[in-house]
Amino acid sequence: MTRTLDVELRPSRHRVLERVKELTRSDQELQDRLEAVKEFSASVRSAEVFITNACNLRCKGCWFFEHDMDKAAEEVRDLDTLRTFAQQLHAGGTTNVLLIGGEPALVPDRISVFVETFPYVSVVTNGTRPVPYDGFENIQVLVSLWGGGPIDDALRGHRPNGQPITGLFDLGLGSVFK
Ligand code: SF4
Repeated sequence: MTRTLDVELRPSRHRVLERVKELTRSDQELQDRLEAVKEFSASVRSAEVFITNACNLRCKGCWFFEHDMDKAAEEVRDLDTLRTFAQQLHAGGTTNVLLIGGEPALVPDRISVFVETFPYVSVVTNGTRPVPYDGFENIQVLVSLWGGGPIDDALRGHRPNGQPITGLFDLGLGSVFK
């Protein structure tokens, strides 16, 4: 027998707004919290910045390397040039940068430039190199971890020179913020 569930998988915007009204109508505290989140969200404007073409892994199927994105643009290594770019981005209204690569943890001096300039900085890392804590106390670190075990190592545990790495999951969990 087949059962059909009456579930809206993608409720419309109208439906979401109606539901929010229902939930907050009789709950002033929830309403105040929602307003605070909305006000804060309106002040955040994000940009994604590739700060390096280098990575210490070669995961199978990595879109960055499989699509030759590391060769598509020249890497900016000069910190003053990077600082000018960051300041222009900030002057244009961006308040939050998401730093990706390659592997941003390989270039902490470049992360510093963005930390100097932006109130909100997020760094995406594969977790194999620690992101320094000193000077980066207020950044958000997003660690890309897969499932662990031999399949994880088989898919991701490859150095650029082809050498295998084992225990990638534990390495990633253990090395952030040392
Ligand atoms: S860690 Fe990220 S950038 Fe590096 S090879 Fe893997 S998927 Fe690509």
